[in-house]
Amino acid sequence: LLAADGSSVPTIFAEMSALAASTGALNLGQGFPDEDGPEAVLDAARKAIADGVNQYAPGRGYPDLLAAVAEHQRRFYGIELDPAREVLVTVGATEALAATLLALVDGPDDEVVVFEPYYDSYAACVALAGAKLVPVPLQWPDFQPDLAQLASAVTDRTRVILVNDPHNPTGTVFTREVLDEIVRLAHRHDAIIVTDEVYEHLVFDGPHVPLATLPGAAERTVSISSAGKTFSLTGWKTGWVTGPADLVSAVLAVKQFLTYVGGSPFQPAIAVGLRLPDAFFASVASEMAAKAALLGTGLRAAGFEVSAPGGSYFTVVDAAPLGATDADTFCRELPARAGVVGIPLTAFVSPEHRDRYATLVRFAACKRVEVLADAAERLAGMRR
Ligand code: PMP
Ligand code: GLN
Repeated sequence: LLAADGSSVPTIFAEMSALAASTGALNLGQGFPDEDGPEAVLDAARKAIADGVNQYAPGRGYPDLLAAVAEHQRRFYGIELDPAREVLVTVGATEALAATLLALVDGPDDEVVVFEPYYDSYAACVALAGAKLVPVPLQWPDFQPDLAQLASAVTDRTRVILVNDPHNPTGTVFTREVLDEIVRLAHRHDAIIVTDEVYEHLVFDGPHVPLATLPGAAERTVSISSAGKTFSLTGWKTGWVTGPADLVSAVLAVKQFLTYVGGSPFQPAIAVGLRLPDAFFASVASEMAAKAALLGTGLRAAGFEVSAPGGSYFTVVDAAPLGATDADTFCRELPARAGVVGIPLTAFVSPEHRDRYATLVRFAACKRVEVLADAAERLAGMRR
């Protein structure tokens, strides 16, 4: 986690957002929206502060938010949870992932199977747990894993199969066949499934299928989500873990010494969000689908080859038709060439696999329509 000279290395997101800020480029790099979430949720947080919800929350989270998470899981997916034992509030999905991996994985004999490219904190948390990362490649342009490669990656040494669906950075939604195979392999090798579903409400052709709803999955699955993406409140850092009581208790055992608890006034506000009408959740997905389509059209017109995301904030392009040979260099030069920031896919892979992703770039569609149109115009200017 440190550079060769001992200094800490900023994440690719921090680095590229700083580049956008210093150059004035449009930031389609780091995945955060440029508009805040629903007024009712913002108001509920203001009210919570005014009402004195300002001291430590209970360790698992306020009962009202635990109940709201359980209600949400029942309402959208038919998953039944005991809010007092099978739900835990965390400081975003980031803490949920860290606490879960630290709780369930221990030392170099434990392996964690991940799909590569992977969200940056996955490899970092597996390293913090001292365990071994076993990547299964997802390849351009559909980014679905090869089932034979997946099967050979999962062995009796596998403690956790770590899944992210919809997937960051590729925007892929895994097929039912892939999800079934994950559950089959978890059973066969007695592995735990950890599933990061922070983009659950950003599936363009829904409904989202949580891994925990597959037959035989619930008893060995820890599910993670967060308010950031669903409510366009990434700075609130409020997430949750759901699953069997013993696994959730193990995660709590670690979580209490990472942060103890998260920010109190956000919790009642997120409970309000989770209880918003169905129309709100439908609009979250349809608006992002429209933005992704707009971004895709702009990127194609600019000369990129463009993949077709099934969900999430993200669209991946191949920049080779624009002369790129190295996505990292391309992205560092892009602010000067076009006034736009994107993230090289090589930031999400282990060093020995960079070649497979050498010319691929991730752009975020979670920006205002005017910004996406402006970005498309600027990128098209590179060819003129
Ligand atoms: N997992 C994935 C796949 C993400 O894209 C993100 C980031 N946004 C996170 C986890 C972290 O979520 P949070 O901001 O709730 O910690
Ligand atoms: N999840 C966001 C992304 O993928 C960034 C979050 C972060 O900066 N850690 O862009």
